[in-house]
Amino acid sequence: MKNLPLVDNYKRVHTYLRISVTERCNLRCRYCMPPNGIELMPRAEILTFVEIETLAKLFVELGVRKIRVTGGEPLVRKNVDELCARLSAIEKLETLALTTNGIKLGEKAQPLRDAGVSHLNISLDTLKAEKFQHITFRDNFKETVRGIEKALQVGFPSVKINTVVMKGFNDDELLDFVDFAKALSLKIRFIEYMPFLENGWSEVKFMSYREMKDIIESKHTLVPLLTNEMVPGPAKDFQVKGCEATIGFITTMSEHFCGDCNRLRLTADGKLRNCLFGRDDFDLKRLLRSGASTDIIEDTIRSAVILKWEKHPDTEELVEMQSNAMVAIGG
Ligand code: SAM
Ligand code: SF4
Repeated sequence: MKNLPLVDNYKRVHTYLRISVTERCNLRCRYCMPPNGIELMPRAEILTFVEIETLAKLFVELGVRKIRVTGGEPLVRKNVDELCARLSAIEKLETLALTTNGIKLGEKAQPLRDAGVSHLNISLDTLKAEKFQHITFRDNFKETVRGIEKALQVGFPSVKINTVVMKGFNDDELLDFVDFAKALSLKIRFIEYMPFLENGWSEVKFMSYREMKDIIESKHTLVPLLTNEMVPGPAKDFQVKGCEATIGFITTMSEHFCGDCNRLRLTADGKLRNCLFGRDDFDLKRLLRSGASTDIIEDTIRSAVILKWEKHPDTEELVEMQSNAMVAIGG
């Protein structure tokens, strides 16, 4: 193994790996998957825990310091807390994070915390039960809110709410979300709606972070957090003046942050992707299952990193491409 970080042609060092552990989900969020869902792969195609752990260890050897477990919905994968315990035990891994829709957190929050998950992101796009049903095609609003409460009780060092903002759907709730964050001293990240395969994206439904910020600033003072300048990352974070709540904006569409991107993605079936919108897959499962040496797998990972583009295409092209379903890539 070469003792070199995973650096691409634009000098970006890759220290963050997002691992999708399943493409299955117990919700059907309109913005995430096509109306008829996606065709699921046979289970045998999905990486086993041993394979995920093997690859994760290799990535950590290559300089990855943060892993996020995601999906689909990671908590529908049986015994995912066991996987998390194996991952958090990897020497030199600094952060184990997980993104979930929260439905199963009532039962899973404590086991996940015990397994070493420190950073939990929970998705919630509305504070109204009927809207939740409309966007997700499921009736699990109460479980999600209970899941958030449970996660807060359990005491994760970081709990954040992810909210995808869509005009005409939940843009009228931005101020309510800030009140919700204030009441629970939460961190909320408002995410710009991105176009994926048949996910209903249109200019009309898109709301930029600046528009969101203007609405919030009509009532609150937002104080920029220093981390905006100090730490490369996708979010523009602000303290809501006078309380503990913080608000962040993920500005993938209106102000891309590709220059600072340190992320790689591993799909549930073991393909490495160097960008959320990337077109190329690097099949690490095939290598693993054919008994390829660690050196060959490392070379493939390095090739994927080297081939990463400087920045993702602009909105028009992304809308045109629509080659992926978010649920299939791993958000
Ligand atoms: N099921 C989990 C969840 O919903 O949190 C994890 C997987 S989900 C694909 C990861 C994140 O991607 C979620 O916060 C979700 O809101 C976000 N997401 C999905 N589709 C999106 C889109 N079209 N635009 C912006 N964010 C999206
Ligand atoms: Fe499932 Fe998460 Fe996609 Fe919603 S956003 S459909 S919860 S994977």
